[in-house]
Amino acid sequence: MRSTKRSRELFELASKIVPGGVNSPVRAFKAVGGAPTIIRSAKGARLTDVDGNEYLEFLGSWGPMILGHSHPEVVSAIQEAAARGTSYGASTELELLLAEKICSFFPSIESVRLVSSGTEATMSALRLARAFTGRSTVVKFDGCYHGHVDSLLVKAGSGVATLGIPGTPGIPAEFTAHTASVPFNDLPALEAVFDRHAGKIAAVILEPVPANMGVVRPVPGFLDSVLSLAEKNGALTIFDEVITGFRLSLGGAQETYGLSAPLTCLGKIVGGGLPIGAYGGKREIMQMIAPEGPVYQAGTLSGNPLAVTAGLKTLEILEREKPYRQIESLAQRLARGLADGARQAGVSVQVQHCGSMLTPFFTESPVKNFEDALKADTGRFAAFFRSMLDAGVYLAPSQFEAIFVSMAHTIADIDEAVSKAGEALKRIDD
Ligand code: PMP
Repeated sequence: MRSTKRSRELFELASKIVPGGVNSPVRAFKAVGGAPTIIRSAKGARLTDVDGNEYLEFLGSWGPMILGHSHPEVVSAIQEAAARGTSYGASTELELLLAEKICSFFPSIESVRLVSSGTEATMSALRLARAFTGRSTVVKFDGCYHGHVDSLLVKAGSGVATLGIPGTPGIPAEFTAHTASVPFNDLPALEAVFDRHAGKIAAVILEPVPANMGVVRPVPGFLDSVLSLAEKNGALTIFDEVITGFRLSLGGAQETYGLSAPLTCLGKIVGGGLPIGAYGGKREIMQMIAPEGPVYQAGTLSGNPLAVTAGLKTLEILEREKPYRQIESLAQRLARGLADGARQAGVSVQVQHCGSMLTPFFTESPVKNFEDALKADTGRFAAFFRSMLDAGVYLAPSQFEAIFVSMAHTIADIDEAVSKAGEALKRIDD
């Protein structure tokens, strides 16, 4: 039995001076029970906690660590950059190199601004879309999460779904009065919103492949229809590729599905494990951003040299190694293994995957939207999560998240996870 003494002690101390003991809600393990694991270090596909337990992990820091942890080239690039200074508050050549890389991978991005988180990216993209169109209403999809932007915390996924928070207190009703949320994969619902708010919709924002309600694929033609419906109605589509960017392919969901969005938000992988977000798109839209245009958006640490270095090195390695076929086939092997294990144990599980991301939903029918996802048996997921953790496999501590496979995972790692999952599924109702 693994010892969790030090983790529990530290969490108790943290709970006295940090809200809930954590700096981001899902880390508190509220949805799965038990004290959260406090991490000491990470290497490749393994995490080590403060009690010395080692875990095979599939959290990938919620997406950024596509190369695995502490990739030697990324670590030495950060070390060299740190020796040259950690922040200047003035421009560097590195920022230009990262902007060029982003634009080369995403042909829809002609101009890009770096920020420090995914939340900042979506918040700024919305402001820009509203300024560009001169309209106020924003349409989102139930279960998609776009960071903790006031006006987007309506029927949101990720931690908001995990904790069952219906929106959140602290946001005046006026701030969400211009937000409409419709079911994902439901074109008639989107058409109805465009009819109802004719001439008022500034933007439609979506995760092209949602991962924050668990992984849900867009039904064929859905993304094209969103783009064309928005365009026809004079609204901008914002692809929130904070997770899917550089994850499904170098050019994100847009490359995978052969699409082009007027505005795109990025985060996670683009910072290689350090804090960065980015938003970009058509030049004629982006030129409205200050100082070129009137839409204000700024940041003391925007384009931070360490974060940009980590991001650049990560993208360089992805470009060189082209790991996408490999990580997708590992993810498929894991998905197949989980589905087989569930069948053998007689447990209803829908394993949904896209590229290197997957979610085992503890439910009987395929999940195509948030309503379906909410039918999942979260109690069973929690039992599964805890068994896996005890067996040394660390998954995202919520049903409404993704398993991320990285370049550091091997076939042996996948088979280890599958075999442990098989055991966990057999004991799930004990
Ligand atoms: N958009 C998506 C699709 C996300 O998954 C997230 C975070 N999980 C965000 C935006 C917000 O990013 P951050 O947590 O860096 O603010």
